[in-house]
Amino acid sequence: MEISRLTISGIQAGLREKKFSAAELAAEALRFARSENPKTNAYLTFCDERALAAARQVDERLARGEEPGALAGVPMAIKDVISTRGVRTTCGSKLLAQYIPPYDATAVERLEAAGAVMLGKANCDEFAMGSSNENSAYGPVRNPVALERVPGGSSGGSAATVAQGTAVASLGSDTGGSIRQPASFCGVVGVTPTYGRVSRYGLVAFASSLDHIGPLARNVGDAAAVLQAMAGRDGRDATSAFAPVPDYGEALVEPVRGLKIGLPREYFEGLTNDTGKQIERGIELLRGQGCEFVEVSLPHTEYAIACYYIICTAEASSNLARFDGVRYTMRSAEAQTMADMYRMTRGEGFGAECKRRIMLGTYVLSHGYYDAYYLKAQQVRTLIARDFQRVFEEVDALVAPVSPFAAFKLGEKLDDPIQMYLSDIYTITGSLAGIPCMSVPCGVTGEGLPVGMQILTRHFDEPGMFRVAGALERAGG
Ligand code: GLN
Repeated sequence: MEISRLTISGIQAGLREKKFSAAELAAEALRFARSENPKTNAYLTFCDERALAAARQVDERLARGEEPGALAGVPMAIKDVISTRGVRTTCGSKLLAQYIPPYDATAVERLEAAGAVMLGKANCDEFAMGSSNENSAYGPVRNPVALERVPGGSSGGSAATVAQGTAVASLGSDTGGSIRQPASFCGVVGVTPTYGRVSRYGLVAFASSLDHIGPLARNVGDAAAVLQAMAGRDGRDATSAFAPVPDYGEALVEPVRGLKIGLPREYFEGLTNDTGKQIERGIELLRGQGCEFVEVSLPHTEYAIACYYIICTAEASSNLARFDGVRYTMRSAEAQTMADMYRMTRGEGFGAECKRRIMLGTYVLSHGYYDAYYLKAQQVRTLIARDFQRVFEEVDALVAPVSPFAAFKLGEKLDDPIQMYLSDIYTITGSLAGIPCMSVPCGVTGEGLPVGMQILTRHFDEPGMFRVAGALERAGG
C-alpha cells in the first residue's frame, strides 16, 4: 500500500478486498507520519493508542459482517483548536500547552462513529489567528510542496498533512479563510460549509459568528464524504442548523452543462499574473464542460477586510477572556495577587498576534467606540451578505481566486500585519456572509506552486458547490 496516495474510496476497497486491515493501515500511517513530520512540523501530537483502538473497532465490525462506516479506517489529522477527549489540545498556544479536554467535539465524535482513525493533532496559528501558520507557539509549519514556503493558515498543519500524505483527510477551522487559503497554498481541497452546517461544539471559539469546521482532503469526493459524516443538527450547538443533509456524493457527479457562473469583477483586480493565469485556466476548463460565465459585481468587497478585523477581534476579545490562569491554562508562578495572576498569565501566555487582536477588539467594543466601529461593521457585514444574495438571483455559483498570490516564503510577511491580512481578501467575504465556499486545485504557477480556485454558492447549496468542484476536478483541475 502506498500510504501517501491513499484516498477514502481506495481505503474502503482495500478493506473490503482484505488487502490490509484497518489496524495495519493505522500502524503504518502512524509510522509514516512520525517519520515524515520533522520535515514540516505539521503534527503537534500523535495519539497512537486512540488511533489503534479505533482501527481495531473497524476490523471487528468488518469481521462481524457489519457495515464499518463511510470513513472506515481513514487516517485523519484534527486541527489543534478542536477538542479531543484525553488528547492534548493546544490551540497552537503556549497557554494551553498542558490542556487535555474532558470531551470530544461533535465533529470528531461523528467522524469516529463513521470509522475514521484520528492519528493526531495538527499545528495551527495560535487560536486560529493568522494566514501563514507562523503564529504557532510550537514553530511554523513548512509547505510540503516547497519547504521554504508557508503552508498558509491558520489550518496550515491540517493542509500540510494531507499534501504530505501523512493524513488522508483532515479537519480545519475557518473564520475568515483558514481552510480555503491553506488548501490553495498546499494544493489540496478545502471546504468551508454553510455557517451552521457542522456543529462547533468542542471547537475552541475565536469569533463565534464566523467560526466554521470543515474538511481538507486530496480530492473533492473525499472532502464531500468527510463533510457528509459530520454535517447536521447537534443539540449541543444552538447555531447548528436543522436543515436536512443532502447526499453530497450524488451531487458531485452531476453534469454542469448550462450552469450559469458569476465572475465577481472585484476579485480579479489585485491578482498576481501567475495566479490570474491559473484561474483563467480553471475557468476555461469549466467552460469546456458547458458552464456559462457572466461578470457580476460584489460592490462592498472593498470594505470586507476592515469589517472582518473589527468583528473578529471584538468577538475574540470576549472569547479569549476565559484564558485567565484560573481554568484550562498554565498559570504564572510569580504572581502574588489575583490581578497579577491574570495579567502575568495572559502576558506570558499569549503571542503577539493574539494580544494585538484582544487589544483591538477591546477598543472597538468600548464605550464611545462601539457605535462607530462595531455597530458600523455589523451593518457593513449585512451589505456584504446582500451583495451575494443579489448575485445569486442571477447565477448558480461564483468562482474566484482563493488568494491574490501563491504560497509566500517563511518570514516574508511577518513584519507587516496588513500585508498578511491581505492574503484573505477573497475568502473573508464568504465567511462574513456564511455561505458555503471551497478551494479546488486548478493549476500551478511557473514556480510550481499550487493555485486554488474558489467556488461559492447559496446558503446550504453545498450540492451545487460540489457539482462545480467535481466538474473542475474531472476536467483536469
Ligand atoms: N487569516 C485570517 C485571520 O487571521 C483568518 C483566520 C481564520 O479563518 N481562522 O483571522
